[in-house]
Amino acid sequence: MMSIAENIDQINSNLHANIQLVAVSKTKPAELLMEAYRNGQRAFGENKVQEMVGKYEELPKDIEWHFIGHLQTNKVKQIADWIHLIHSVDSENVAAEIQKRAEKAKRTIDVLVEVNTSEEATKFGVKPTKAMELLKFVSQFPNININGLMTIGPFTEDKDASRDSFRILKSIFDEANNVIFIKKPMIELSMGMTHDYEIAIAEGSTMIRIGTAIFGSRTININ
Ligand SMILES: *Cc1c(COP(=O)(O)O)cnc(C)c1O
Repeated sequence: MMSIAENIDQINSNLHANIQLVAVSKTKPAELLMEAYRNGQRAFGENKVQEMVGKYEELPKDIEWHFIGHLQTNKVKQIADWIHLIHSVDSENVAAEIQKRAEKAKRTIDVLVEVNTSEEATKFGVKPTKAMELLKFVSQFPNININGLMTIGPFTEDKDASRDSFRILKSIFDEANNVIFIKKPMIELSMGMTHDYEIAIAEGSTMIRIGTAIFGSRTININ
């Protein structure tokens, strides 16, 4: 079995310079994150606020924390001072709360809007047909910077289904940059996980979120 450091090096060796690797460390103990950290990894992704706050408090302060799970409005305040990027804005309510907490913290919070491109009922994310409306709404908040879009591809080995999902995200991205973000275009497409990141990169991903291929499989909290 390869070490965490070797896994990260292996993935990075296949990435061009403009693609960022977010190491998805959910369910994994701090010691394993430190193994990745000592190998130079600084971006970590978590999907539970409580777990991320605990790791934030314990681990070095130059880590960039990415929140990739479903964000409840009542938890935004716990991360507002230090969160690096929220990947999962999918409602007006959560955006309004992020605005409020960012203003209190006297900062701008970078976010991605999550789109449910596979339209699987169990997934969070705004529907593709509602994405433009949400982007317009969120773009009016002075303390929120919309860096781009995020999607979770379908849970399948069907490469065509994955590709379709990523193309939908890219087409919304292009449309919104032409219509809403004319002065300051969005730059990030967060798409691609262990099973589908090569397809995501071919379709224009700028940020891949990899858990299993770095830390091994998870026994709990699959999502
Ligand atoms: C768990 C998770 C990942 C990483 O999944 P792997 O298949 O382990 O690479 C990526 N994105 C999100 C939103 C996740 O919840």
